[in-house]
Amino acid sequence: MRISTSAAALRKLTQVIFDRIKHTVLVVDPSASNRALICECLSQLPEIHPIAAGDGAQAMHLFRERHPSLVFLDISLHDTDSLTLAREMRHWECTNEEDGFASWTPIVFLSAVMDEELLARSILAGGDDFLYKPVSEIVLLAKVRSMLRIVSMQQEIHEAHRQLKEISRLDGLTNIPNRRYFDETLAAEWKRCIRTESPLSIVISDVDFFKQFNDIYSHQAGDACLKAIASSLNESLFRVEDMVARYGGEEFAAILPGTDAGGAHAVAERMRRSARELSIPHEKGVGGLVSCSFGIATMQPSTDETPLQLLQAADTGLYAAKRAGRNQIKVAGA
Ligand code: GH3
Ligand code: MG
Ligand code: MG
Repeated sequence: MRISTSAAALRKLTQVIFDRIKHTVLVVDPSASNRALICECLSQLPEIHPIAAGDGAQAMHLFRERHPSLVFLDISLHDTDSLTLAREMRHWECTNEEDGFASWTPIVFLSAVMDEELLARSILAGGDDFLYKPVSEIVLLAKVRSMLRIVSMQQEIHEAHRQLKEISRLDGLTNIPNRRYFDETLAAEWKRCIRTESPLSIVISDVDFFKQFNDIYSHQAGDACLKAIASSLNESLFRVEDMVARYGGEEFAAILPGTDAGGAHAVAERMRRSARELSIPHEKGVGGLVSCSFGIATMQPSTDETPLQLLQAADTGLYAAKRAGRNQIKVAGA
């Protein structure tokens, strides 16, 4: 059972990779001979992989599964109205965004009848072009090239958008998530923990005597120290849903969804030790080394409270850790 499941997954992955290397073009036509003719013509372009559907249901299935780069859609399908099918494809694209980016697959209608009113309606339904049959090879291949040029530009924009989004979530110095991404994630996790009725913990940490570190060793050394601490805190998290962000200057904050107070304390202790084990000399630091203090708080999120209360509680813990001598962990109110 496991073998056949992974074989199916591998087949699907191979298909996805193949479809990305080549442009898949979906030909939807009720006539088997027309489908074969168009696919044969398209196969002349080495970068094209044609696939075909004879009816609307099959076309929609292939559209969802294979994400074609281009669709040729005959206007006279038997099982569904082609304009309705085009609207369905557009709707699917809008509701299946990737990274907040809805794709747009060019749809070229093919029609055996000259009908300008139908042409106008098909464009309104989501079509991008309208060709009268019979279509010569030269026109068909030229259309493919022009449409795929637009597809390639769209893919470049999509990739740039994805990269920008990724960069906008990271802190420039330490390369871990920034405060904005932390706030977004905390709000999302708060809601998720309400739904799943699970606890949510926060760990806030602050580098001890860091102003003096800068004063003694230079601001550049301070930056390098922050980078090393960020990595050590990040590497102290073992669960994929946990995250640590740069919260402010020399402060870091971790979100631990589904983690109770005991678990949060264990994570904070791992973080504390890990930062300490960097063994960065600090002549005014605790025991001559750089260290961090930690405040932790755990809540069962509810609609009566807010994430801000959880943050404030963790901050109170941090303040207590500082007062108690630094390089330690405190829980608010404990
Ligand atoms: P405490 O143990 O009470 O936290 O003392 P502290 O000196 O760490 O705290 P304080 O808030 O007085 O100083 C924080 C210092 O962190 C001052 C600021 O210049 C430094 N800092 C904040 N952001 C950066 C940064 O990006 N790079 C460097 N090098 N220093 C930073
Ligand atoms: Mg501070
Ligand atoms: Mg500090």
